[in-house]
Amino acid sequence: MEKEKVYIVGAGVSGLVAALELEKAGFSPIILEGSDTIGGRMKTDEVDGFLLDHGFQVLNTAYPEAKKYLDFQGLKLKTFDPGAVIFDEKDSYLISDPMRNPLKVVGMAFSKVGNFLDKVKMFSLTQELKKQSNEEIFSKPAVPTLQYLKDYGFSPTIIENFFKPFFRGIFLEKHLNTSSRMFEFVFKMFALGHAAVPEKGMGEIPKMLRKQLSSTQIYFETRVKEIQGNAIHLENGEVIIADRIIVAVQPDRVMKQLQGQFAPSRKVINLYFTLQKSFMARPMIGLVKGDHLVNNLVFMDDVSPAYSKGDRSLLSVTVLESDLEEKDLVKEVQLELAGISGVKAEYFKYLKGYWIDYALPNLDDLRYSMPLTECKITDQVYLAGDYLLNGSINAAMTSGRTAAEAIVHSYMRTH
Ligand SMILES: Cc1cc2nc3c(=O)[nH]c(=O)nc-3n(C[C@H](O)[C@H](O)[C@H](O)COP(=O)(O)OP(=O)(O)OC[C@H]3O[C@@H](n4cnc5c(N)ncnc54)[C@H](O)[C@@H]3O)c2cc1C
Repeated sequence: MEKEKVYIVGAGVSGLVAALELEKAGFSPIILEGSDTIGGRMKTDEVDGFLLDHGFQVLNTAYPEAKKYLDFQGLKLKTFDPGAVIFDEKDSYLISDPMRNPLKVVGMAFSKVGNFLDKVKMFSLTQELKKQSNEEIFSKPAVPTLQYLKDYGFSPTIIENFFKPFFRGIFLEKHLNTSSRMFEFVFKMFALGHAAVPEKGMGEIPKMLRKQLSSTQIYFETRVKEIQGNAIHLENGEVIIADRIIVAVQPDRVMKQLQGQFAPSRKVINLYFTLQKSFMARPMIGLVKGDHLVNNLVFMDDVSPAYSKGDRSLLSVTVLESDLEEKDLVKEVQLELAGISGVKAEYFKYLKGYWIDYALPNLDDLRYSMPLTECKITDQVYLAGDYLLNGSINAAMTSGRTAAEAIVHSYMRTH
């Protein structure tokens, strides 16, 4: 029996998960994707034998939705060592496991980033959060993360030396204004799981979702201009009449009435350099303390050797904000890298940079999940996308599943 024709706008993670759930219920959805490939914000390019993710990002192995939709073994996940190497102008030090096992971090090492009470507080926070469900975490009152850390009693030293560089790189904003709900969620995920990348890059994640689809059709380079009722107007002038539509992209792009409803998104710049040899030589994230262009850095082939086919190491550098032209930014970053590593600036060979204007949605009210009824705008139009909940792979997956479930639920009631 031919069920309703469901169109999904966008082949990012949320759109692909929506298709997967619709297929499970017997639908054969059609995805309309504006670009020439799947993955949206999660893509990997191959350039000169190096794998370049579009922006440094990681999968946390504790994400509940990721466990449902991904086969971690099939992805050959490569995990980061927990903790971070912290660089300042004169020194670098390793803090081994502050969110999973704070009391095990050797006193001397910890004393570089915080005091003994910070260590005890890290431990109690870890224990408290592990006991709370994700739903509970996201229903607590929200305050800016920086205020939360101060209220919790963390010292200014650990806030400056660890929390700021670590969470700036996750929230993609400098002041830790992001809601404490997201802080607690991410902290809990790091306490329970590991940061990881698939052996061959983050782009493998949407590819694995796509492989599970059997009756979904995907049309590429099919940009939607506007949705009116159940009519999908394409940029090329065609009009498609759908039974139902899942908008798996921030909806102001395709629904004129929603324009101006969203705060400007968080941006990020990701620069890739190659170097003869990693100066970290361990699968760990490097954080740069203080006010620098470079916020965090990782030698990707220390985590997964497949990121570099040749004999040079691949360095991924995250810059949160800069108006500099590419040439000038690269030069400044090379100087900063030389400053923290002692390796000459010119040895950092620039490979490619990504200026990502839409990296994370900028949200006031962060949530973990939503009721089925909320993602339904009209009888025909349903919403999906991380912007509905919080900026994470887990949220993108949850939103896609919820939109599909809402359609199935509504279909069952009317048929
Ligand atoms: C640099 C960076 C770092 C990140 N770090 C992490 C991290 O460490 N951990 C984590 O959990 N999450 C991270 N994220 C967030 C995560 O990548 C996103 O939450 C997730 O990929 C969002 O998926 P989505 O389907 O909601 O949206 P998108 O991936 O944005 O998908 C939308 C799709 O719609 C298509 N589209 C847009 N407009 C149209 C149109 N008019 N017509 C047709 N198609 C259209 C787009 O081409 C795209 O394919 C990061 C993101 C970035 C960019």
